[in-house]
Amino acid sequence: MLNFDFYNPTQILFGQGQIASLANLVPAGARVMMLYGGGSIRQNGVYDEVMAALTDHKVLEFGGIEPNPSYETLVRAIAQVKAENIDFLLAVGGGSVIDGTKFVAAGAMLDDDPWSIFEQRSANIVSALPFGTVLTLPATGSEMNSGSVVTRKSTQEKRSFMSRKVFPQFSILDPSKTFSLPPRQVGNGVVDAFAHIMEQYLTYPVNAKVQDRFAEGLLLTLIEEGPQALANTDDYDVRSNVMWCATLALNGLIGAGVPHDWATHMVGHELTALYNLDHAQTLAVILPSMLRARKEEKRAKLLQYAQRVWGLAGGDEDTRIEAAIARTEEFFNKMGVGTRLGDYGLGPESIEPVIAALEAHRMTRLGEHRDVTAEVSRKVLQMSL
Ligand code: NAP
Ligand code: FE
Repeated sequence: MLNFDFYNPTQILFGQGQIASLANLVPAGARVMMLYGGGSIRQNGVYDEVMAALTDHKVLEFGGIEPNPSYETLVRAIAQVKAENIDFLLAVGGGSVIDGTKFVAAGAMLDDDPWSIFEQRSANIVSALPFGTVLTLPATGSEMNSGSVVTRKSTQEKRSFMSRKVFPQFSILDPSKTFSLPPRQVGNGVVDAFAHIMEQYLTYPVNAKVQDRFAEGLLLTLIEEGPQALANTDDYDVRSNVMWCATLALNGLIGAGVPHDWATHMVGHELTALYNLDHAQTLAVILPSMLRARKEEKRAKLLQYAQRVWGLAGGDEDTRIEAAIARTEEFFNKMGVGTRLGDYGLGPESIEPVIAALEAHRMTRLGEHRDVTAEVSRKVLQMSL
C-alpha cells in the first residue's frame, strides 16, 4: 500500500426527510445564498422543502447554473456574493451546481480574476466561504470531495481544481429526491461513478487489499442496482444504494494508498468542452479504449477485475481481459450511454482538436505511470470511433 493522507470533514445526512435538518445545519444569522440549476428543483418539491426548512434564515437565490457549470455564469454569482455580503452558500442540485458553488466559494475570497485558480493550480486558494449541499443527482461525488470542474465557454475550456478549502461542511442525501431524474441522468450518474472507481482501482497492484475489496463491492453494487434504477423510478432502496455508491466512489476512501489514473476523465473533459457531450458520455466512450490501449501496463488488475467483478475465470489471459472490457461496454450501453464517438455524431475529424486541447492544457503525461502521451490519447480516440 502507498503512503496516504486521508482527510474528509464533510458531514453526511442521509435519508428521507433530512432536508428539514437544514434549519439547524445552516448557521443562525448567516446571510445565505442558495445556488441551483435550471429549475428541476422547482418541479420535484426540493425547492419548497429547502425553503420551508430555512424560514428563519435570510436566503438569497442564484439560479441558472447550467450542466458543466460555466465560468461566465459563476463570476456573476461571485459578484452577487460580494455585493450582498453573503457568508454561507447552499448548493441544491447535481454535480454541476455543487462544483459551481465550490468555485464561487473560493472565487469570492479572491481579488483577482478567479480563473487564476486554474492557472495557479489552486495555490492561490487560502480560504473559501463555508457551504453545504443538498444533492439531487448521484454521480460525481462532489458532495463529499474537494474537486470542482468549470467550463469557460468563450474559450471552450473545461478545467478542474482541488482544494481542501472547498469540502462541503455538510451534504444532505435524500434518495427519494432522485425519483424525478430522467433516464439519461440516471444512466450518466451510474457511468460516472463506475468510471471514478475504475480510475482508482484499475491501475497496478500495490497490495491494497482493503481498497480493492471496497472498489469491487461498489462496482458490483452499481452493476446490480444501476439497471434496477432505470427500470424502477421510485424504488427507494435501489436509489439509496446507487446514491451512497456514487458518494463513496469519490470521497477519498477507495483512493487512499493506491495509484490513480484519471486519463479517461482528462481526455473526456476536452470532448465535453469541444463537442458538448455529457460528462458520462465521454467516459463511456474513452474508458473501454483506454483499458485496451493500456492492457500491458494494467494486465494484473484487468485480470483481477475480470475474475472478481465479472466472474470470468476460463480461457487465456487476453481472452478474459477482452471479455471483461466488452462486459464493461455492455453495461454502459445497458445504462443507455453510448460507447462510441459515432454514437454522438463524431467522426475522425473530431480527434485532432482534442489532441491540440490536451497539449494546450499540458495533459500529455497522464495516467498512473504518466505515460499517456498525446500520441497514446490519439490512439485511444481512434479506437473509440
Ligand atoms: P448535472 O450537470 O449537475 O445535472 C444534469 C441535469 O440533471 C441537469 O439538467 C439537472 O437539471 C438535472 N437534474 C439534477 N437533479 C435532478 C432531479 N432530481 N430530477 C430531475 N432532474 C435533475 O449532472 P452531474 O452529472 O451531477 O454533474 C456533471 C458535472 O460534474 C460535470 O461538469 C462534470 O465534469 C462534473 N464532475 C465533477 C466531479 C467532482 O469530483 N467534483 C466528478 C465528476 C464529474 P437542473 O439544472 O434543472 O437542476
Ligand atoms: Fe466524473
